Amino acid sequence: MPHRLLTNNRAWATAKKAADPGFFTRLAKQQNPRYMWIGCADSRVPANEITGLDPGEVFVHRNVANLVVHSDLNALSTVQFAVEHLKVQHIFVVGHYGCAGVRAALHGLRIGLADNWLRHVQDVRLRHRRRLEHLSPAQQEDVLCEMNVIEQVGNVALSTVIQDAWGRGQAVAVHGWVYGLQDGLLKDLDVTMERREDVVAKFGAAIKRYPRGPEGAAAGDAADSSFGPGVL
Ligand SMILES: [Zn+2]
Repeated sequence: MPHRLLTNNRAWATAKKAADPGFFTRLAKQQNPRYMWIGCADSRVPANEITGLDPGEVFVHRNVANLVVHSDLNALSTVQFAVEHLKVQHIFVVGHYGCAGVRAALHGLRIGLADNWLRHVQDVRLRHRRRLEHLSPAQQEDVLCEMNVIEQVGNVALSTVIQDAWGRGQAVAVHGWVYGLQDGLLKDLDVTMERREDVVAKFGAAIKRYPRGPEGAAAGDAADSSFGPGVL
């Protein structure tokens, strides 16, 4: 008795071939995706399914809490392959509300080894704490999910891969989206970066949409303005 997943797979392949007899032979020759998706590993956020894309149409990298860490060779190699070899035109960093990784980072919950990974989300929280602390716990979770995406869009844009691509005139845009588990809808966080000159201004405009609390206004939030390397 084959495993249920193998049975499902046979049915899927048969249906796909019936609808489009050349589907697999065409895809086996080459992939030519226009899009790259960097998302959370959460099983409820499958890139192809929620965007209505077929195999071959989106190049995907997923990890816990959709992070792009400066020194993560796994993520950076995937971005490099997507940009330099596949020539994707759009990279979407996609977070989601109700992200367990973001929640753990926000509340300091211990999960295990992943706590060390999620320190990167805690860094986002600390950096923008004046814009978070005056909100209710539920609002803080949602806003931190969004802010984490904005930060990761900046990290992709500041990577050598994207900086070099823009430097040689290659058209590739980096977008930030967030997905709602409750309604299945994607929301554009309006932080799209398409040029080197975009990065600091787009990042600043996106973060400033989250007002500081009264205490923050008095104390200032110097961390917000420290984004980006000195060369930009
Ligand atoms: Zn998640």
